[in-house]
Amino acid sequence: MARRPAKAPAKKANAKKAAAKKAASRKGAAAKGAARRASGRLADRALRQEIIETCLAMNAAGINQGSSGNISARNASGFLITPSGVDYEKMTPQQIVQVDLEGGYFGEWLPSSEWRMHLDVYLGKPEAQAVVHTHATYATALSCLRREIPAFHYMIGVTGGATLRCSEYATFGTQALSNTMMTALEDRTACLLANHGMICFADTLPKSLKLAVEIETLCRQYFIACQAGQPVVLGDAEMTGVLARFKTYGLQSDELGENDALAVEAPVRRDAPRRAQKSDQKSGPKRAPKSGKKAGARKRRG
Ligand SMILES: [Zn+2]
Repeated sequence: MARRPAKAPAKKANAKKAAAKKAASRKGAAAKGAARRASGRLADRALRQEIIETCLAMNAAGINQGSSGNISARNASGFLITPSGVDYEKMTPQQIVQVDLEGGYFGEWLPSSEWRMHLDVYLGKPEAQAVVHTHATYATALSCLRREIPAFHYMIGVTGGATLRCSEYATFGTQALSNTMMTALEDRTACLLANHGMICFADTLPKSLKLAVEIETLCRQYFIACQAGQPVVLGDAEMTGVLARFKTYGLQSDELGENDALAVEAPVRRDAPRRAQKSDQKSGPKRAPKSGKKAGARKRRG
């Protein structure tokens, strides 16, 4: 009987300890969950940030007006796209909108009004990893003429074909616009959108932006050439050759596949490629330079 009061505080202390342990484990689990969620967010944070930086670079390149353009990048859940009507300078990674491939979106921010065009590019072009849509001045001016840009310059091959097509007209933000865009994008990586602007895609954000700049440059050149006269258009045979070369355009020789040909007729290389030098050092003819030295030494002696 005398022990009871002594035991009671010990029980209390044990209960306190157990409660503290439980709370700690709950805290630990919550922290682990938060860390997991944070790392999940972080994985896309870099891509979200890259989208914002591409928007800023697009405006710095002078190929877009305000926030009228929009940019997206494919990810594991569908694609990430710029929000509707937010200044690029004030845009934060959290405002970039996740859209799934069924056309649903997540979060507080509405995706760009042109999300349908981006969605259809990702659905119809498995090779597309990033999409850029802009109202670049010359591309837009030519889109108002609703004219297909012919092969007035071989660089038109960056579109993947011998022309830069212009879509039929449809109201912005509609499925009809997306449908006519997809028709104009058949076998192409870029097209003009009638009375609207241009759209293009590539396998990375930097490459998509580079392509958008190239398309605007071509439109400017074509526009200026047309002011001076009637540009001479390159023939189909010439453009077939150009397009074959474009497959390896910009690649270095070590990036080529077995059956690829270089886009440029390269001059003869005078020095030995590094890789060949390394493999020479690893295999047989190690002695050659030594004996050469000796031979030279002998010569000097003699
Ligand atoms: Zn637009």
